Amino acid sequence: MSNFRFKALEIAQSRQALSVPPPAERVTEYYGSYTFNNEVMRSLLSPEAYLKITQAIDTGGKIDRDIADEVANAMKAWATAKGATHYTHWFQPLTGATAEKHDAFFDVTMDGKAIEKFKGGALVQQEPDASSFPSGGLRNTFEARGYTGWDPSSPAFLMDNGAGGKTLCIPSVFISYTGEALDYKTPLLKALLEVDKAATAVCQYFDRNVTKVTPTLGVEQEYFVVDKALFYARPDLVMAGRSVFGHSPARGQQLEDHYFGTIPPRVNAYMVDFEFEAMKLGMPVRTRHNEVAPGQFEVAPTFEEVNLAIDHNALLMDLMEKVAEKHNFKVLFHEKPFAGINGSGKHNNWSLGTNTGVNLLAPSSKPKESLRFLTFLVNVVKAVHDHADLLRASIASAGNEYRLGANEAPPAIVSVFLGESLTKALEDLETKSEVIVNKGDNVYYKLGINRIPSLLRDNTDRNRTSPFAFTGNKFEFRAVGGGANSASTMTVLNTIVAAQLATFKQELDARLANGEKKELAIVEILKEYYKSSKRILFEGNGYSDEWVEEAAKRGLSNIKSTPEALGVYLKPESLELFERVGVLSHAEVESRYEIELEKYIKKVQIESRVVGDLAMNHIVSTALKYLNKLAETAKALVDLGMTDEAEPIKDLIKEISARVIAIKKNVEAMTETRKKANNLTDTAEMAKLYATEVKDFFDVIRYEVDKLELIIDDEDWPLVKYRELLFVK
Ligand code: ADP
Ligand code: MG
Repeated sequence: MSNFRFKALEIAQSRQALSVPPPAERVTEYYGSYTFNNEVMRSLLSPEAYLKITQAIDTGGKIDRDIADEVANAMKAWATAKGATHYTHWFQPLTGATAEKHDAFFDVTMDGKAIEKFKGGALVQQEPDASSFPSGGLRNTFEARGYTGWDPSSPAFLMDNGAGGKTLCIPSVFISYTGEALDYKTPLLKALLEVDKAATAVCQYFDRNVTKVTPTLGVEQEYFVVDKALFYARPDLVMAGRSVFGHSPARGQQLEDHYFGTIPPRVNAYMVDFEFEAMKLGMPVRTRHNEVAPGQFEVAPTFEEVNLAIDHNALLMDLMEKVAEKHNFKVLFHEKPFAGINGSGKHNNWSLGTNTGVNLLAPSSKPKESLRFLTFLVNVVKAVHDHADLLRASIASAGNEYRLGANEAPPAIVSVFLGESLTKALEDLETKSEVIVNKGDNVYYKLGINRIPSLLRDNTDRNRTSPFAFTGNKFEFRAVGGGANSASTMTVLNTIVAAQLATFKQELDARLANGEKKELAIVEILKEYYKSSKRILFEGNGYSDEWVEEAAKRGLSNIKSTPEALGVYLKPESLELFERVGVLSHAEVESRYEIELEKYIKKVQIESRVVGDLAMNHIVSTALKYLNKLAETAKALVDLGMTDEAEPIKDLIKEISARVIAIKKNVEAMTETRKKANNLTDTAEMAKLYATEVKDFFDVIRYEVDKLELIIDDEDWPLVKYRELLFVK
């Protein structure tokens, strides 16, 4: 049999690590060299323009036309000197990929002369054809206009486009003609602004010098790497980004030897290479290591301001894909590319930092600062408690559905881990009854607040099964999918925290107006918050069945399906929240919901087709050929009078036939169900049918196929096996 699998294996096995020299001797020589960063701006712009633009970055203020022209000129000069020929607004439409539309810096005049053009207008605003991006019914299809608008808070950068030239990329928002957000960035920027306002206002009770609070994000990105030839020999990886069939290898991750083991040389060379590129783009990539599953790895940059961290993550994913080509790899960001071993997440480490250099989620040894720490900590817990379903909605996707609740990933139940000592401190706080403060008494001491830091110091416990864990000086949201754009989650998290902090301030102001002492009033409110939200705190094993039961008893949701999770966006309280905080209008939320739902349907639809095609054209056909071989052998044995010896072969024939029949029957039934789903006009109904009835066939068919993989002659098996895909050299 002309088996593509063996050709691919031969190619893959012959490859060597491709080591790449560093762009320069010292990192400082190339770090950020591809970004139009602060330093470059200071050196190229007039002092007025520089001041205006840094102000606009800090406060989100407007940039007038003259300044825009000056910045555009400086950008063009800088970019062309570095070899750029084109420029583009770079944005993140809701399709999930990043988008670019390259325009040349030069134009041709009527008399055929080339002139250079790139003015403030082109920097500030562009008009890509919006009709090719999803808008979820916001824009009639005949109204193709949408605008991209420069986001000065994320530095413009140069992208190598392979063929020698470079493109100046200008991070941008993407909005419709009527002003509605069509991208991830627009609502994110609003949420970040609101959390800054709300947190700054709360900080004022503790320190008047705090005038700005910046949300910070460190994104740990997990991914798989597979050889390019093997990737193309797996139509399911090509079409769906995940393997729909494949028996677990004899050695999976049970030995736990891959995690923090030696990085395979080919992969190491690849990592080094994309890190060079990332550093040129000013990304502080810091950690690289193996992940739990074979073939799985992680890259993590140092945290940055949220908007920048998200741009950098999106850009890093692009870069990793590009650089992978050079190393004859394919990088997989899918949440669950392989069954039976770990999937990939994107841990979102989040905190709040002040302009005075304080991390508001870092415990302190000073009692007064401890109260501030507890204020922010408890408010975050309350926000997550009150809006757990919305957080769940923010990470809902077809890919993540395979990961959440599978036994190695955080469960679909949102819970918060604080660690033993912090939980104990909060318990103490709750049970401390009326504290009567006499003159000279130390309130903090009485409330136990001065004990928190010493308790935390030995808080070394780590809970890797919690979806939302406090990790000493930040929260880590681990349930975000590997392929996701973190902006969805960060928009929700910062929105709910902004709303919660604003409520806290109102309640506190009301108490202060009643003449209550500030510290005691704060503690009273925190006690109430703690009491009303502590059911979301969970310290145990989040992957256990006991937790599923316990969570149900506590009344916590466990939303497993994507359509149901997305449905939370449309609840009146969600719509009200987004509007109240000023992040998304009703119409914008509804359009986002539609888009996500459609994405989900398309993904499951594609997978279903891939399952059907592979099962029938690759697996069943191979099984039938093998059946023939077996039948001939059995017949030969019988002809030789060896009827007893023919028996086990007949059993094999029976088993294979039964499995083939089961596959065929289920593929046909799945196709029928798909037709039924496609005939529905209501998107929500359609998505639901895909999530349940259509998807239910995947495991049934897979079961039969994976069994066949164990029986059929290895020489004939058409799909690259897990053991061949996963153990990269
Ligand atoms: P671990 O690997 O144990 O989870 P690390 O200290 O390596 O912890 O941090 C993981 C990520 O958290 C990194 O991206 C790091 O930059 C980020 N991080 C650290 N401090 C903060 C913070 N204050 N805000 C946001 N992210 C942070
Ligand atoms: Mg981590």
